[in-house]
Amino acid sequence: MIGTVGFNVEKTAEKINIRGTLRTGEPMAAHTSFGIGGPADLYAVPADEEDLLTLLRIADEELLPRFILGGGANILVADAGIRGLVIDMRSFSDITRNGNHLTVGAGAAVSEASDRAFREELSGLEFIYRMPGSTGGAIWMNARCYGSSIVDVTGRVDYLDSDYRRRSLSPMNGEGGFSYKFSPFQHNGGIILRAVFSLEPGEPEAIEARMQEVAADRERKGHFSYPSAGSVFKNNRAFGGPTGKILDELGLRGLNSGRAQIAPFHGNIIINTGGATAEDVRSLVETARQRAYEQRGLVLEPEIRFIGDWQAVD
Ligand SMILES: Cc1cc2nc3c(=O)[nH]c(=O)nc-3n(C[C@H](O)[C@H](O)[C@H](O)COP(=O)(O)OP(=O)(O)OC[C@H]3O[C@@H](n4cnc5c(N)ncnc54)[C@H](O)[C@@H]3O)c2cc1C
Repeated sequence: MIGTVGFNVEKTAEKINIRGTLRTGEPMAAHTSFGIGGPADLYAVPADEEDLLTLLRIADEELLPRFILGGGANILVADAGIRGLVIDMRSFSDITRNGNHLTVGAGAAVSEASDRAFREELSGLEFIYRMPGSTGGAIWMNARCYGSSIVDVTGRVDYLDSDYRRRSLSPMNGEGGFSYKFSPFQHNGGIILRAVFSLEPGEPEAIEARMQEVAADRERKGHFSYPSAGSVFKNNRAFGGPTGKILDELGLRGLNSGRAQIAPFHGNIIINTGGATAEDVRSLVETARQRAYEQRGLVLEPEIRFIGDWQAVD
């Protein structure tokens, strides 16, 4: 099989010697919360940092595009899939406690980190309980919910810089310029290895009550009723209200494209009603953007990332 970037997938796979997993033609639908996405030419799950460095070096030598995958909860992968190498960080999943600090591997689910903090009687991560995705993905997105952003409790992030040197930064001390749904990793190419959350001792009953509250709210809002990637567009203070409300007012709830639908219960969520294609979702994103611009003069900024070979459909 020849990848469309012009490399021989099998030959390249033969050169890769890692302790973790390597597969060719892996369907990305199995790795995204949308349940959508064509095959990745090469899909690797490095077992450790050494494997990760091996993969990065081979990608550089072979001039392969590469994509770092967390929980796949904020991406729409093209139907034609992803050319090059996908590196799934799921094995970086250790969670350890040191005093009031919880060190969490980039591949650990952020909800699992929240649950572990509760079991350690540490408060601060309740707000993110049951938010889909990995800790690395949450840092990359500076994920935000229930009035807090992940950066608010992140004492340190360990990462590999673009030359694959180990680096750390302290978001809580203002390093990195984190802001609403923005982290420096969105432009510096860093690969997040782990985060150290700075928490406070708390009463287990109070911690658990808050976690149940946010989980119940997500359930009530239909977050887990259908495959989705959560909010499609960012909020913007200048719009004067949440983007979901604006899309509701434009009458977009329930709009279909193929098997994708603007959720009947939330204007800013697109759901896969079963067998939707990436193109179905993309077309709804375009319709919503166009309607918001034409009818309200608003330029909506997508929060979900479009990953993979979209040229194949353009
Ligand atoms: C039902 C539902 C509800 C949601 N609610 C919210 C919400 O309330 N608030 C919110 O902010 N988001 C929400 N989301 C979106 C999503 O959960 C978050 O954006 C989450 O942080 C994405 O993490 P991920 O690991 O899935 O990232 P992915 O989707 O795998 O990747 C997102 C980006 O992060 C990069 N990345 C991932 N891991 C690393 C790493 N280790 N190093 C470098 N780059 C990395 C990827 O390359 C990609 O560019 C929701 C999603 C769903 C499905």
